[in-house]
Amino acid sequence: MSKSTDELFKNVISHAKEYGFVFPSSEIYDGLSAVYDYGQNGAELKNNIKTYWWKAMVQMNDNIVGIDSAIFMHPKIWKASGHVDGFSDPMIDNKDSKKRYRADQLLEDKIAKYDSEGKTDKAEQLQHDMDEALKAEDLTRLRDLIIEHEIACPVSGTRNWTDVRQFNLMFSTQMGAVADDADTIYLRPETAQGIFVNYLNVQKSGRMKIPFGIAQIGKAFRNEVIARQFIIRMREFEQMEMQFFVRPGTQKEWFDQWKAARLKWHLALGTDAAKYRYHEHTKLAHYADAAYDIEFEFPFGFKEVEGIHSRTNFDLSQHEKFSGKKLQYFDPEVDPKTGKPYGNYVPYVIETSIGLDRMFLLTMINAYEEEDLSTEDKQDSRTVLHLPPCLAPVKAAIFPLTKKDGLPEKAREIMDKLKLDFNIQYEEKDAIGKRYRRQDAIGTPFCITVDHQTLEDNTVTIRHRDSMAQERVPADQLDKIIGDLVSW
Ligand code: ATP
Repeated sequence: MSKSTDELFKNVISHAKEYGFVFPSSEIYDGLSAVYDYGQNGAELKNNIKTYWWKAMVQMNDNIVGIDSAIFMHPKIWKASGHVDGFSDPMIDNKDSKKRYRADQLLEDKIAKYDSEGKTDKAEQLQHDMDEALKAEDLTRLRDLIIEHEIACPVSGTRNWTDVRQFNLMFSTQMGAVADDADTIYLRPETAQGIFVNYLNVQKSGRMKIPFGIAQIGKAFRNEVIARQFIIRMREFEQMEMQFFVRPGTQKEWFDQWKAARLKWHLALGTDAAKYRYHEHTKLAHYADAAYDIEFEFPFGFKEVEGIHSRTNFDLSQHEKFSGKKLQYFDPEVDPKTGKPYGNYVPYVIETSIGLDRMFLLTMINAYEEEDLSTEDKQDSRTVLHLPPCLAPVKAAIFPLTKKDGLPEKAREIMDKLKLDFNIQYEEKDAIGKRYRRQDAIGTPFCITVDHQTLEDNTVTIRHRDSMAQERVPADQLDKIIGDLVSW
């Protein structure tokens, strides 16, 4: 990471804290690793991102519905899905620093180092060797690679490594008063399984016809070996997932469609397309027949924000096997090839899975600007969040010019009308310029000033965040002006 991007990232993190977007969790107790809280503006921004996604999925598609399944689920679900046996990362400890690392991460960092030193051959060879070892689940080989490539612990600087072992990422807890093995349940590491186990309930109660989708937003928990890069890798995070159930044989076509649709959703927020790219998975999970990530260029490089996976009928078939219940769909449509209905089958699934917290960070980074406003005779600057208006935590701020002459009362009267439709903030403290800066810093698209003229002709000054241009408008048009800009 170059100095300036490194600095930019640090500035975004401290801005997020200073302006009530993201706080380290349990901060007065020195924090809890890889856990964060969203503050007053962060909660609004996060909710708006959720709404933007929910509308694009559920409201805009008449064959997609949304659910909200419980975090706790029957433990057998995680056996069936493969998480109990396979949802793990290869972990290694340094005996001197007692620090724990992901073996593959150490190797990836080394590959990046080789690349940055122009040692492309070495980088490619190591990538190949690591991929082979991961595919064969050969933990000894992973350790050997760490030793061969002289990888040292970033903390102690020594190469005194333990063996590599698999570390399951699921958090477990006990349900009920009696603690024995049978009571062990897991905090879900993905929201998807709540959709799979409910798919027939939704299909039947909603009389859904294939193809149809089920969407969900909710918390997921992973005991990540190492937490890095702020809210990119958290132990408690939120996912927005949609499982789309299709007729076997049509998955390729739906996969392509969702892959394109999801990138379009990102770009519709006005983000520079050059900041996005697709990454194709060449090593597919055993149940997948295609997988792409949508990656965004964060200050520390391209990173996955969303995955689009063609999961075949793996999950539903596994749940049939483990629950003993039929999860087949009866398709009454006639197959033109046979002239008969398609009949019973276990649907195939295309999944789109986006990390809400990564989307939040992406949005903050994209919006953040330290703008130089200096003129020949005056040094000036501001920090502004150019958030898409529909996502801004506060849509408009209302300022009485002074605290007297009935201006606060008039400002509040205007606010009371607007707040039925928009999140509005009232501020009367400090000079107008300072109030503008505070609103710029949280990305408020409009600042409305009520002055003495307002009392005479009911007009106000409205100031636009990005251009900083001001215009005088009738107060009774505010609803429409704000509404037009912040609508979805
Ligand atoms: P990664 O390779 O970065 O660990 P993943 O491939 O394990 O991610 P998925 O299981 O596909 O991720 O989860 C879907 C989405 O959930 C990811 O694209 C990401 O945005 C988000 N996500 C996954 N793990 C975390 C985490 N620990 N913290 C925050 N978001 C996460």
